[in-house]
Amino acid sequence: MEGNSKILIDTFGRAHDYLRISLTERCNLRCVYCMPEQGIELRESSAYMNKHELLSIANAFIDLGVKKIRLTGGEPLVRKDAAEIISELAKLPVELAISTNGILIDKFVDVFRKANIKSINISLDTLQKDKFNKIARRDDFDKVMSNIQLLLQDKIHLKLNAVLMKGENDSELIDFIEFTKDKNVHFRFIEFMPFDGNKWDWSKGVSLQDVLNKLDSVYGKRVIKLQDGKNDTAKSYAIEGYIGTFAIISSITNPFCDTCNRIRLTADGKIKNCLFSNDENDLLSAFRSGKDIVPLIMDSINKKKFKRAGMDSFEDISNPEINSNNRPMISIGG
Ligand code: SAM
Ligand code: SF4
Repeated sequence: MEGNSKILIDTFGRAHDYLRISLTERCNLRCVYCMPEQGIELRESSAYMNKHELLSIANAFIDLGVKKIRLTGGEPLVRKDAAEIISELAKLPVELAISTNGILIDKFVDVFRKANIKSINISLDTLQKDKFNKIARRDDFDKVMSNIQLLLQDKIHLKLNAVLMKGENDSELIDFIEFTKDKNVHFRFIEFMPFDGNKWDWSKGVSLQDVLNKLDSVYGKRVIKLQDGKNDTAKSYAIEGYIGTFAIISSITNPFCDTCNRIRLTADGKIKNCLFSNDENDLLSAFRSGKDIVPLIMDSINKKKFKRAGMDSFEDISNPEINSNNRPMISIGG
């Protein structure tokens, strides 16, 4: 790191230029795999970064070589000043992206256009209204689907994320793939990951191999493997002749840590060097007391483990005594 303060390189030589900022721990859905059943305890607003703090800390990361920022949460669009934050970040020399559950998109399309956001990730775990209510514990399926249609017409590139779970939505895999037939969407199937309070059990999980086996039995040689980007977390495919594409994110059975370029900033201003890490440095408190936050950022990068915060094996990641030692996903920012 010394001698080059413009790039966040960890001890394994990985350059970190992609920051995911959680705007809030709040959400208007209650997805079973993300939000603990009892909810989470929200703190007073001073516990979280205000707009000025968030923009200043984001700027510090950009000075350290961050080139892409994704806004996430909780649900980033429920934050009252989300539009202002997006507009301010859009003025910085950084590619801006957003992950959302889609409910409020129609209210933000103009903001996205002005901020030059070209790609949006939306959670979509089912194409069935009843099942949506069961998985997301809220009755917003029609709203999400109409907003997806809106973005398709607007030519903003869409990634749809489905966490596959046995007995919940795994039977829809082929429906999801057929959804890509005539639409310019990229469906991503995410292996169910363990976080505090989500009752994780891998017997509910659907693996990369499970998906490939199913695809082979239905589409055979029509499944085309696509070229993956250097820092891609997903293995990408398409069905011959289909307009859309799809991918599998296999953090449990086949993690993609070798080329990881991600760092995370939680809504309460902590840097996390890995989704699975419980080791956090408190940038917000340092910022508020006028200290330089750069050494804390460097320290976090230097402490980054090679794979899944040190959970190298499937045995480690599936051991509740090890894997539950983290925040709930809703307060990390996925
Ligand atoms: N609310 C936004 C949304 O739903 O896209 C952004 C935040 S959400 C935490 C970001 C992503 O994390 C979503 O795609 C969601 O499916 C994924 N996610 C949440 N919990 C997960 C889990 N236990 N395993 C795998 N993915 C998870
Ligand atoms: Fe909310 Fe997104 Fe978590 Fe669902 S996955 S509860 S929409 S933050």
